[in-house]
Amino acid sequence: MSVVGLDIGNFSSTIACARSRGIDIICNEVSNRSTPTMAGFNVKSRTLGESAKSAETSNFKNTASQLKRLVGRAFADSEVKEEQSYIGAPLVDAGGEVGVQVSLAGEQQVFSATQLMAMYLGKLRDTAQQEIGTKVSDVVVSVPGWFTDAQRRAMLDASKVAGLNSLRVMNDLSATALGYGITKPELPEQGQPPRHVVFVDAGHSNFQVSVVAFNKGTLEVKGAAYNRHLGGRNLDKVLVDHFVNEFKDKYKIDVYSNAKATFRLAAGCERLKKVLSANSVAPLNVENLMNDIDATSMLKREDFEAAAAEVLKGVEAPLREALEAAGIEQSQVDAVELVGGTSRVPAIKEQISNFFGGKTLSTTLNQDEAVVRGATLACAMLSPVFRVREFSVNDINLYGIKATWDAPSSLPEGETNETEIEAFPTKNAIPSTKILTFYRKEAFDINFQYSNPAALPTGINPWISKATIKDVAPTASGDFSIVKVKVRLNLHGLVSVEGAYTVEEAEVEEQVPVQVGEGEEPKTETRKVKKTVKKQDLTVVGGATGASESKLAEYVEKEGQMYAHDKLVAETEERKNALEEYVYDQRNKLDDRHAAYATPEEKETFKKALGEAEDWLYSEEGEDAQKSAYVARLDALKKLGDPIVNRFKEQQELPKAAAVLREAT
Ligand code: ATP
Ligand code: MG
Repeated sequence: MSVVGLDIGNFSSTIACARSRGIDIICNEVSNRSTPTMAGFNVKSRTLGESAKSAETSNFKNTASQLKRLVGRAFADSEVKEEQSYIGAPLVDAGGEVGVQVSLAGEQQVFSATQLMAMYLGKLRDTAQQEIGTKVSDVVVSVPGWFTDAQRRAMLDASKVAGLNSLRVMNDLSATALGYGITKPELPEQGQPPRHVVFVDAGHSNFQVSVVAFNKGTLEVKGAAYNRHLGGRNLDKVLVDHFVNEFKDKYKIDVYSNAKATFRLAAGCERLKKVLSANSVAPLNVENLMNDIDATSMLKREDFEAAAAEVLKGVEAPLREALEAAGIEQSQVDAVELVGGTSRVPAIKEQISNFFGGKTLSTTLNQDEAVVRGATLACAMLSPVFRVREFSVNDINLYGIKATWDAPSSLPEGETNETEIEAFPTKNAIPSTKILTFYRKEAFDINFQYSNPAALPTGINPWISKATIKDVAPTASGDFSIVKVKVRLNLHGLVSVEGAYTVEEAEVEEQVPVQVGEGEEPKTETRKVKKTVKKQDLTVVGGATGASESKLAEYVEKEGQMYAHDKLVAETEERKNALEEYVYDQRNKLDDRHAAYATPEEKETFKKALGEAEDWLYSEEGEDAQKSAYVARLDALKKLGDPIVNRFKEQQELPKAAAVLREAT
């Protein structure tokens, strides 16, 4: 069984697995340590990860990026509309959820964000399986701390569709903090004042801050805050705007009028931005930007920073809010640890350092891999495969969750007529269980919703889920039943009703010690005491969010079909290449090293067959044939070629065999 962590970034994602010697990053098919978080669709099959990225500019209408920003969001969310400016494929309504409309194998199709994430997770699963050599199932997936119930559920649903068993949907910075804490031997003893570390993740699309208190063997998240709209892509946008303006005068073109050119320019700006992190001036070169113009320009770091001033300002608020939430002052912060690709931007570092009064920032963690390492450690802790040093991660709830219900027509005397309770307030520990008590004579509903809708990502529905508590009836004497409802905020940060039951006051017999004289044996006596005891389990219906069972089954089936189709397309391509390669290889060899091993007739027949195969390969039929056709052609050629090849090989082996024989005698 494997233990795998996944850091699903909006730009790129990283996979790691636990091995007995430590945690290894898993490289993808082109040996990169991270994989673009993208799904593309073309005339034959899907392209996921690297292949989607390399085809993005030429196939932007059928390429979906920003998958993490879309997952779990409704098409109607106002924020989701902003995503369109980063995504080539048109965003559409996929049954309430946001989705994309793309052309796959000549057919217009709509895929929901959950499906897109599922296909992408499937790609990461395959990459991991390829490297590890066994089936990958148990994973810990990291998400931004600001993800709501719907977004976390959608990640879980997508994992399920990809055949992954997500042991924990973990906050990015809690994973980072775990990776940090578990390797620090010198943390303060329990009971001593903790070490306070502020973790900052400046990524592609968001900026996260978490204040964490460390003691030996434990970490406690004290407070967190986010800027959901600050990241590398916002800086790229500043650059694109800048050059679009410049090119209006310089080349008399409006790059924004041409989607393809906009993608090309954005890619150039991203490169330029990276160069500016290490240099004070950087060039921009975009060949054939549009209208046959090769665009060139330069930008100074100071001009970039001036243009990005508004974006850079966004750094401060989450830092301040996180400290406020944690209830600590700047001066109590022992270290500030930076992760995320955008933390390489000097101006971002400077803003953060300035906030902490010029404090030196630490980059003891690997900026690009800290999150995935933490997630993998968390997976190892939850999995039976490894024994990991004890380290408890105490995370907190970001958005308060309240339970509400309709007022019943009557209540026992003295009971208040409240219809809601804040079941899990902000900063409530995760995981956590609460028992709610109700006096009822009939079935009733409990709704869960976020207490403060204004705190949520714009457009997210504050309502979470509804659970119906059934089988409730009056007691034998016609009185109110006492109903206990067990509500849980689980490890993923999701709320659900775990169960419900009635209790009653009953007289139970208990053994109670009685006073005895000195030297006498201890004695007990049986007494009757009144106690609340469980009477009957009740049926709970609903209470979970996310896609329905039938929807998930539909997604699984569709994914299975597409996966099989992609596999066939890849194998067909591979067989076609094999045939092509054989034709060229054998033709060359026939005039060269195989020349002496074929009769003139054999040569002629074989050459003719090779020529025919070549012609067929470039004919309309051979260009796009079925896998079996390529296999059959190759087999037929080999029938002619193998005898020649074998004669050659035998001859090659002769001297070797002779050498061996000589030695033996
Ligand atoms: P998120 O966490 O926001 O979902 P992510 O985890 O995919 O996204 P990261 O990998 O942390 O994001 O960062 C990617 C971003 O960092 C990109 O915008 C990239 O351009 C930027 N980046 C990477 N290296 C540098 C660099 N040297 N200078 C400036 N920016 C960089
Ligand atoms: Mg990230």
